Amino acid sequence: MSLPLPVSLSPSKVSSFTDCALAFRFSAIDHLPEAPSVPATRGSLVHAALERLFCLDAAERTFERSLVCLADAVEVFRSEADFIDLGLDDAAEATFLDEARVLLEKYFRLEDPTSITPIGIELKLEIEVGGVKLRGIIDRLELDADGELVVTDYKTGRAPGERQEQQRLAGVAFYSLLCERLFGRRPAKVQLLYLADPLAIISTPTDRSTRGVERKLAAVWTAVERACEREDFRPNPSRLCDWCAFKAYCPSFGGEVALADAYRIDRELARQADASALV
Ligand code: SF4
Repeated sequence: MSLPLPVSLSPSKVSSFTDCALAFRFSAIDHLPEAPSVPATRGSLVHAALERLFCLDAAERTFERSLVCLADAVEVFRSEADFIDLGLDDAAEATFLDEARVLLEKYFRLEDPTSITPIGIELKLEIEVGGVKLRGIIDRLELDADGELVVTDYKTGRAPGERQEQQRLAGVAFYSLLCERLFGRRPAKVQLLYLADPLAIISTPTDRSTRGVERKLAAVWTAVERACEREDFRPNPSRLCDWCAFKAYCPSFGGEVALADAYRIDRELARQADASALV
């Protein structure tokens, strides 16, 4: 028996596989549920506020309006599971919202949004390379003063150390590849805006970086195929385990992988039952 292949790769799946193959399996193949976390939900909220900000005319993109955008996004989030399941009491919710406001305030230290010419916000892109579906969401695609494409990705966690920075820049090359294949143009610049620091990491995609990401994607996909065939996804304990949602299934923490198998099979049986009910 072998495990089913994941349907696609994305920058986060590639880095998940590189960090810990077993965590990748739990997320991308078994689709185990992941409880929402405060940092991830806060990050989504700030992304939603910035998305609203960039739907406004340039002159209206002020800090004051960004707070209105944040308030609008909060109203939507209040009815979503990722927010409700955090179970924040009044004091914790006030801190959560205050931290989101601080991230927006720091965003304004990184750039002046009135000077940006966006041509796409939260763009869901998909291409196929060598039989592998690649999917990515570009937070913001814009034109610079020379009419060149610029990709911007907001990050609400801290900026990475040197080793992780290389991984993040591999994600950058992934976005550049998506643009090249879909729009026939390589972006002049891809920038990661780390709001918490605040810090911008800017990269200029090249032939070399594009070839590098294609090679890396091919190598990761081959490794995923082999691991699925052999049912061999190994844990790689590291400090990332502190944030891992799958400890209950991970043998390095006394968990059982068999529980993940059972979850995946139950889910597939339920899906098939739903499909036959529709026929
Ligand atoms: S707890 Fe650590 S080793 Fe286990 S799956 Fe998660 S990241 Fe991997």
